[in-house]
Amino acid sequence: MHNIADNYDKIMHRIAVSVKGSKLLASKPQLLAVSKGQPSQAIRDAYHCGLREFGENYLQEALTKIEDLKDLTDIHWHFIGPVQSNKTRLIAENFCWVHSVDRLKIAERLSSQRPGHLPDLNICLQVNIDNETSKSGVLPCAAEALAVAVSQLPRIKLRGLMAIPNPNGENPGAPFAALRTLLQEIKSCHPDLSSMDTLSMGMSADLEAAIVEGATMVRIGTDLFGQRKASHRPAAKG
Ligand SMILES: *Cc1c(COP(=O)(O)O)cnc(C)c1O
Repeated sequence: MHNIADNYDKIMHRIAVSVKGSKLLASKPQLLAVSKGQPSQAIRDAYHCGLREFGENYLQEALTKIEDLKDLTDIHWHFIGPVQSNKTRLIAENFCWVHSVDRLKIAERLSSQRPGHLPDLNICLQVNIDNETSKSGVLPCAAEALAVAVSQLPRIKLRGLMAIPNPNGENPGAPFAALRTLLQEIKSCHPDLSSMDTLSMGMSADLEAAIVEGATMVRIGTDLFGQRKASHRPAAKG
């Protein structure tokens, strides 16, 4: 508990310093606490520190915690992992946000499966901002068409773009600047897409670079909760 409270203070300080260094942001980005690989109790502790937005990557793990924590009725759950089409119904029923939509078929399923009594599902399109063939995410050149198509679906609110850039890039700010520019281009061609107000970018290691380039939501796991269970650490990249 102490750890999480201390870590939370440190992250809020890093965010405040970075916002001062950014010419692009007037207000602080929202902190999304990435709780994959962490027990329900850690989420409860973070909740008592004031956090309300939590991100999970794996559906089964998330559903167990959502059940454990259903007494905390004002938590907003964000799905940030790859979305398989056979999982869309449970995602549409249990989450407020999905950050990782990268094809129309997934958005269509989420749209048709979103229960009518819930508010519209907030969606970000995950963009493969490094143009790497091995990565998930829509390619930048295809993002505009996908945004237009997704924005027309009922029960969905298109909120913006998300990216997980290669951590070994030479200039850590460049992919974040590219995502910001892409969002601006899409919005200037399509003034009707005014609901796109979100740049979901920046993790523990690169939140400063993302904020300087205009992140409106940073997704922080390790630096808030500490190390995850081994099975939830990303595979080492060669
Ligand atoms: C795990 C994860 C994070 C958090 O990563 P940390 O480096 O632990 O802060 C953020 N975004 C996504 C999509 C993730 O999968």
